[in-house]
Amino acid sequence: MEIEVKSQTDNEVVFIIRNAEVPFVNAIRRCAMVNVPKIAIENVNMIRNDSAMFNEVLAHRLGLTPLVSDIDAIEGMSLPGDEDYEESRGVMFSLEEEGPKVVYSKDLISSDSKIKPVYDTIPLVKLKEGEKLRIEAEAKVGYGKEHVKWMPTTVCAYKQYPEITFNEDMEIDYECADACPRGVLKSDKRSKKIKVLDIENCTMCKSCVRASQNQEGKSYINVGYNENDFIFKLETDGSMPPKEVLLQACNELGEKAEKFIKFSEEGGTK
Ligand code: SF4
Repeated sequence: MEIEVKSQTDNEVVFIIRNAEVPFVNAIRRCAMVNVPKIAIENVNMIRNDSAMFNEVLAHRLGLTPLVSDIDAIEGMSLPGDEDYEESRGVMFSLEEEGPKVVYSKDLISSDSKIKPVYDTIPLVKLKEGEKLRIEAEAKVGYGKEHVKWMPTTVCAYKQYPEITFNEDMEIDYECADACPRGVLKSDKRSKKIKVLDIENCTMCKSCVRASQNQEGKSYINVGYNENDFIFKLETDGSMPPKEVLLQACNELGEKAEKFIKFSEEGGTK
């Protein structure tokens, strides 16, 4: 198996995996979404809420506000499944504001300087003149399989690597290039060829194939995919770097595999 990173930013990584199987790539995708621990607000004590927003809606908004959850931030915190998880105290947040104003995520005061909202400018609620808001909240570590607020990924998907070929025995059909909505194809009338500009941008929608179909249903262009090569895109909500999510997902998968190997070695009796 070969892996090649195509692009990388603070919140997103795109890479190519070659010579892999669908179940394996899909297992990594699922682990990254639901098995990587993340911090999110779990308990909210509404001491005063004069705003027009219902307590439940405001609590939901607080839960979905991304909090810094990298390895340093989570270290030492109790994880779901730990014996003391239910009784353990998470990170406390307080919020006390009076209108008129829009209350933003930056107004949440954390008891731990490492764990705070990733973005300052997420609007939480609007307060009118004289309206008051007083909240205490507790953030805990959880997994995406329990609630989407604990899911670190906003995009975690793969597609098989596209393959584009031309039926050279047919007359060239420039219309197929014009039909592509993603600029993957370009007709070059001088060299009498259709050029493939950016195959990785192809969504395999087959608009080009339909556009160049003749009356017998044959098309000048063929679009398919390579079974064992994948383009994988992982984007996070900013709570942790994408590489960290990927690393933790792979560790999780490795641990599951280890358990299975042990189980098999023991004759499948435990
Ligand atoms: S399959 Fe769709 S995206 Fe790919 S080259 Fe054809 S028209 Fe463009």
